[in-house]
Amino acid sequence: MKYYSTRDKSFTATASQAILKGIAPDGGLYVPESIPKLGKSFTQLSKMDYPQLAYEVMRLFIDDFTEEELKSAINSAYNTDNFDHEDITCLVQADDAYYLELFHGRTIAFKDMALSILPYLMLTSARKNEVKEDIIILTATSGDTGKAALAGFDSVPGTGIVVFYPKDGVSKVQERQMVTQAGENTHVIGIRGNFDDAQREVKKAFTDETLAAKMLEKGYRFSSANSINIGRLVPQIVYYVYAYTRLLPKEINFVVPTGNFGNILAAYYAYRMGVPIHKLICASNENKVLYDFFKTGVYDRNRDFVLTSSPSMDILISSNLERLVAELAGDKTASLMEDLKVTGRYELPENARKAEAIELFEGEFATEEEMSARIKELYEKEGYILDPHTAVASAAYEKYRKETGDETCTVIASTASPYKFTRAVLTSIDKKYASMDDFDLFTELEKLSGTPVPKAIKDILSAPVKHDTVCDKDKLIEEIEKIYL
Ligand SMILES: *Cc1c(COP(=O)(O)O)cnc(C)c1O
Repeated sequence: MKYYSTRDKSFTATASQAILKGIAPDGGLYVPESIPKLGKSFTQLSKMDYPQLAYEVMRLFIDDFTEEELKSAINSAYNTDNFDHEDITCLVQADDAYYLELFHGRTIAFKDMALSILPYLMLTSARKNEVKEDIIILTATSGDTGKAALAGFDSVPGTGIVVFYPKDGVSKVQERQMVTQAGENTHVIGIRGNFDDAQREVKKAFTDETLAAKMLEKGYRFSSANSINIGRLVPQIVYYVYAYTRLLPKEINFVVPTGNFGNILAAYYAYRMGVPIHKLICASNENKVLYDFFKTGVYDRNRDFVLTSSPSMDILISSNLERLVAELAGDKTASLMEDLKVTGRYELPENARKAEAIELFEGEFATEEEMSARIKELYEKEGYILDPHTAVASAAYEKYRKETGDETCTVIASTASPYKFTRAVLTSIDKKYASMDDFDLFTELEKLSGTPVPKAIKDILSAPVKHDTVCDKDKLIEEIEKIYL
């Protein structure tokens, strides 16, 4: 399997090289030359547990690992030390859909599904490519990636990690999770700016050749744990195949609360591998760039950035969309991405707008009010409590269902535990919680949901703050230099 850059096919890489590099040298994203078909029947796959299924899916994409290397990475990640559910993930039926709970990992958000395995994929890739330097992970986070990456790389020998987050753009729990991170090799820095600023500046640091040369001299090499890394994308395909094979309906819809377009792109790859997906419903919050894109074929980030209660979806530039665009627009991708950089918008070519791939996607969105109302409604109807991201998806799905009458079996990706966003969740159910202390709300949520406070939350309540650096949004490179040079 060869991977090539979305912007220039002459930049190619093996799977392990693509995992190591994260991003192609021309700033494009690595895409597989073709999407492989699942190698076994659904009946066979339905009998496999999560790690077995992960091997069946991942071996097709990461084909320069030996069976032993890949299985060892899978078993190091998907076990009950890292996940508090024996099946790793599970489906819960509530109201009109199934919820695929992807938040049973160490940081109680779906990012754990990929970031628990990425360090192992990366170290094996480094060995394979005879990399001598330490691998330094640079990551911009809208809240959840940061902690999941820190937890994944914490104290892993031969690695270091620097996480940048928007100082006022993440939840209290998200921030506390990050700034209490232990491990000599971990660094957390708040920036005065939003997530798009953080993402843009991290990308700049990656492509800064002077910085790279100075780092190399000191024995360091950058890599990315952001969702543009195929080492993130490929493990995410697994749970869509897993969900389908637990239910085995004729066709299935997936609804995915979307920010950077990584999670839903993995669902699309599952479709291309042969999972009979009827619709992929891309759910946005009030930052509904993607909703507009799927309705009009025009991507336009020139609009106000809205801070919502689903911060991991507060994104105006969805990086992974470039991979879908590359399928639709081919050679024009580089110039569309240049348009995006210069003018903040691009238009899909006319012939790309009717492509099968774009017909599969359905854009929907939910406002803050709709999100809150959905949390309350589902709690009152079923006693099931959603986090705000999942509630955006659930509310968007209800709108879609009313508009289309589509009754296809539907699975909603449940991307975070409600414990991660306790205030937004509880005040949606009852305004009386607004006056309570953030940390008292955990006990209240425990009472309402009947689900015990997860270990991830208990841990941060007692852990000391270890990171307090804050910098201006254009000073990221200086901060990196302070740490390593
Ligand atoms: C990251 C995240 C999302 C968005 O996922 P993308 O892959 O960026 O589209 C949604 N919900 C939660 C809780 C997240 O952490």
